Amino acid sequence: MTDTPSITAAQTPPLPFVLTRHPAPKLSFEFFPPHTEAMAVKLWDAVLRLAPLQPRFVSVTYGAGGSTRARTHETVTRVRRETDLEPAAHLTCIGATREEVDGVARRYWESGIRHIVALRGDAPEAAAPYVPHPGGYPYAVDLVRGLKRIADFEISVAAYPETHPEAKSADADLDHLKQKIDAGAVRAITQYFFDVDVYFRFLDRVRAAGITVPIVPGIMPVSNFAQIVRFSATCGTTVPAWLCDLFEGLDDDPETRKLVGATVAAEQCRLLQAQGIDEFHFYTLNRADLAYAISHVLGARPSKGETPKEGNRP
Ligand SMILES: Cc1cc2nc3c(=O)[nH]c(=O)nc-3n(C[C@H](O)[C@H](O)[C@H](O)COP(=O)(O)OP(=O)(O)OC[C@H]3O[C@@H](n4cnc5c(N)ncnc54)[C@H](O)[C@@H]3O)c2cc1C
Repeated sequence: MTDTPSITAAQTPPLPFVLTRHPAPKLSFEFFPPHTEAMAVKLWDAVLRLAPLQPRFVSVTYGAGGSTRARTHETVTRVRRETDLEPAAHLTCIGATREEVDGVARRYWESGIRHIVALRGDAPEAAAPYVPHPGGYPYAVDLVRGLKRIADFEISVAAYPETHPEAKSADADLDHLKQKIDAGAVRAITQYFFDVDVYFRFLDRVRAAGITVPIVPGIMPVSNFAQIVRFSATCGTTVPAWLCDLFEGLDDDPETRKLVGATVAAEQCRLLQAQGIDEFHFYTLNRADLAYAISHVLGARPSKGETPKEGNRP
């Protein structure tokens, strides 16, 4: 006999989400347009791996300063042509006149692209302050209005649970989010965050402000922790001490980092799911493995034979 106390069921932590099988969540996956042929192959592998999970849409980013205009278009239209997935094109206000941005949007509409993620974008030089292009759309809200004048696009916009770094105040930022929704956006996708409380506190404020559209949590499964720390400093995401602790000592151990990253993101999503969140947007960084595993944990299961379209299998 030892004096180790026995643990009874009554003493186990109240974690009903561990036991509950939730309905499959609504998923979306974000990719960036490839720079090289090798990256294009990797991207397409990731798209095809994730496709059977039947995401509601897959989105393709628009490089800083509009630098990937052609490659974003090519990637989005390839998704349209070669899969049954619903593609969404990111579009920004940076470095272009309204006419030029409108031209890009019209070409999307003509190519059958109906969903735009409308963003302001950032100055091409990371540290430079944002200055609207003369003759361009100054803010995302202006872009949303412009897009709605062109065609009846489905429009998603960005939201910031920890407040956009350039915002005058959290309330001003929320007000700007509301303007984007009032202008016709039907959902907001959040900047990534790590503490679920940050998201729920934001959601309370969003609902109190009268915004009723889905606020889809943006999930960043971390595999390269050092890179995430650098990026978080620029985009205003807090990297909590507990996360630093979990990645401590793993700088030269990418395999373990990946497993830790999947565990952290899966826990984060399960906590969100346990409190009623059933939509998730994954920043995939063009890798399927973590997003696939976490989606599986959340209850997503592959459908068979839906995508890609017949005749386009690799
Ligand atoms: C889901 C998601 C996807 C993204 N995809 C891309 C991408 O593909 N390409 C890319 O380059 N970047 C992308 N970004 C980054 C985004 O471009 C930057 O975060 C950018 O700094 C802000 O974009 P926004 O659309 O939120 O801007 P806005 O909504 O225009 O807000 C920008 C700032 O201006 C303030 N503001 C808004 N309207 C006004 C106004 N009328 N007057 C004064 N201030 C105002 C806001 O409070 C905020 O501080 C993405 C971000 C997210 C969350």
